[in-house]
Amino acid sequence: MQSDSSSRFLMANADLRGYLLQLNETYADSLSATDYPLPIRILLGEFLAAAALLSETIKFKGRLLLQVKGLEKITLLAAEASSERSLRCVARFQDLSDGDAPDFEALLGDGTLVVTIEPEHGERYQSLVPLTAPNLAQCLEFYFGQSDQLGTQIMLHSDGETATGFLLQQLPAQLETDKTKRADQWQHFSILAGTLTHAEQIALSEAALLKRLFVEDAVELFPPKALRFACTCSRTRMANALIALGEAELQSLLAEQTELTLNCEFCGAQYELDGEAIAAEARGDRPAH
Ligand SMILES: [Zn+2]
Repeated sequence: MQSDSSSRFLMANADLRGYLLQLNETYADSLSATDYPLPIRILLGEFLAAAALLSETIKFKGRLLLQVKGLEKITLLAAEASSERSLRCVARFQDLSDGDAPDFEALLGDGTLVVTIEPEHGERYQSLVPLTAPNLAQCLEFYFGQSDQLGTQIMLHSDGETATGFLLQQLPAQLETDKTKRADQWQHFSILAGTLTHAEQIALSEAALLKRLFVEDAVELFPPKALRFACTCSRTRMANALIALGEAELQSLLAEQTELTLNCEFCGAQYELDGEAIAAEARGDRPAH
């Protein structure tokens, strides 16, 4: 598959759509700010692929965030995709090293995934997905099953260097309206799709891969769209985070240090802000040109 891209496909004779994606440089760039142990790198790869896939399935302009918090070894795991196809991720962890298994159930099984959709305009909304299935893909299938009754099949794989994602989803009945035939059709296609492997997804082109899976069925494949790493942090956002602490807390911080240094956990960028700079951001001042 083409690196760092996402491709959409439609079955010509069934109410089904799908997405295929592969992350390489985007994956490496998203992890470059922190020295993560292998199990975290693997989980973040799956989270990045999942965020990218989910954001493809919804028509919106804004950001989609997947987040798990407060577990024993993983205190934060988050990946974000924008409607412009930029991705970023972050994790906080303890007692994990390269030699530990990336065991989804052991590391995240007690958690709840929070899916936040934040449109550029309008209300943001959140869904909670219990992480009770053996992997993230199956947890997300459950999430789709709950919310819209359309069959959804998801496959996610990552090995620390390449992350792949595959999504197959029923569309509202149009070509086939008979309920039984529609269910049979879904079973037929999801069994075929279920044979896809991570190695195949890396080795084959998008067209060859769809041909391999659905040899007897016509598929319309659309041109790949580029995915990339990008961080949305800024001086203004950092200043706003400080202002949100409240006046008393902020003043006590500034009494200790005249200049506060903040690091963006997603990209590693460093921001230095003094009281005057924070006040200027609060007033909405822009530097003179
Ligand atoms: Zn950043």
